[in-house]
Amino acid sequence: MTDRKIALITGGSRGIGFSCAKELANNGCDIIINDICDAATAQPAIDEIKALGVNAWFYQFDVSNDEQVKAAVDKMIEEHGHIDILLNNAGITKDGLFLRMDAEQWERVIKINLGSAYYVTHAVIKYMMKARQGSIINMSSIVGVHGNAGQANYSASKAGLIGLTKTLAKEFGSRNIRVNAVCPGFIQTAMTANLGNIEEYAKAIPMQRFGTPEDIAKVVKFLALDTDYVTGQAIEVAGGLML
Ligand code: NAP
Repeated sequence: MTDRKIALITGGSRGIGFSCAKELANNGCDIIINDICDAATAQPAIDEIKALGVNAWFYQFDVSNDEQVKAAVDKMIEEHGHIDILLNNAGITKDGLFLRMDAEQWERVIKINLGSAYYVTHAVIKYMMKARQGSIINMSSIVGVHGNAGQANYSASKAGLIGLTKTLAKEFGSRNIRVNAVCPGFIQTAMTANLGNIEEYAKAIPMQRFGTPEDIAKVVKFLALDTDYVTGQAIEVAGGLML
């Protein structure tokens, strides 16, 4: 068992989640990475985190599958004793204008982006309650605050995460469990790789550039480790972009 704080990061083998994993590892946390990919695919991410001098473990499961989530979280507690920080980060897009959006497109995005936060948080929070401490961070998006044409499913899922965040902050504050959301703008990852000419999009951003995964990781680290009194917040990290 480790004395360090342990952070569980869903969808953490690449992109924003992986950057957050490295930032928390650099600040002394052991890291549990979840992803839907197989262990061999996640191994380079695990190796990179271990090279920072902390423990890193990989658990493969689908965050939208309640049974898989429960089994994996129970196994984590059995093997490592505690989870102090939970970053609900896994997410997908299936974009399309609303009139052409079929039910499968709607349901899949809602289940992976929002349903997962229910499943994983429900499985983890009982252990945080026993420990009388915890920090939960939900990876929302500025489109959850401002909306975005072509992303009704995604925007609704990310808005739902903000409602969940504020409600859980109220329900669990007395247990010393803080719950916050981060709302990234355009961040350069695989998710935004097919947007095309990013210089064109960047013109609409007051800071005139896409964000980096590291821009998000700094705020996640603040919420996870640097504050004991911030809860129920949805922090936009978007270079001033309000869509
Ligand atoms: P990314 O590079 O696509 O990473 C997302 C990760 O989640 C991938 O490793 C993906 O695995 C994993 N994942 C997807 N479905 C999963 C499932 N059912 N179970 C477990 N893992 C699953 O995306 P990103 O840009 O880093 O985004 C991370 C989070 O930030 C997402 O919630 C996203 O909505 C949010 N966000 C991103 C931006 C942006 O501009 N990039 C802006 C606002 C918010 P596979 O690829 O193997 O399926």
